[in-house]
Amino acid sequence: MAEWTLSSFHKERDDPSRCAGRVMDRYWWESSQCSRKRGHGPEQAYCKQHDPVAIKAKRKAQREKWEAEWAAKEAAAARKNAVQAAKDAALAACKAIVDGHNDPRSLAAGVLAMLPDNSNMEQKDD
Ligand SMILES: [Zn+2]
Repeated sequence: MAEWTLSSFHKERDDPSRCAGRVMDRYWWESSQCSRKRGHGPEQAYCKQHDPVAIKAKRKAQREKWEAEWAAKEAAAARKNAVQAAKDAALAACKAIVDGHNDPRSLAAGVLAMLPDNSNMEQKDD
């Protein structure tokens, strides 16, 4: 005879017409079977909320959203740094021109080349 476990106890008691997902009982330490009808997920054994495939997809979508937000923040920070570096270079170039730099056009072109694409050197603080 198979070893008695809590999960086999659950299996014996589970209603095959209801979702195989488990919910924590509010007043008791034990979890109990979900009360919703099945029809979703593997073997149609779950309700929409407990469908492991849907749960996995939802977690994946959430993770991808976080990663995209993180990448956007990183890109914004990198752009901000690049704009700041260009501003510093522009200031240095102006001083060099005042001091009589003999190729101000090349100097200015060098500063412009440091700017990130579509930058007008304005910074938005977010
Ligand atoms: Zn359920």
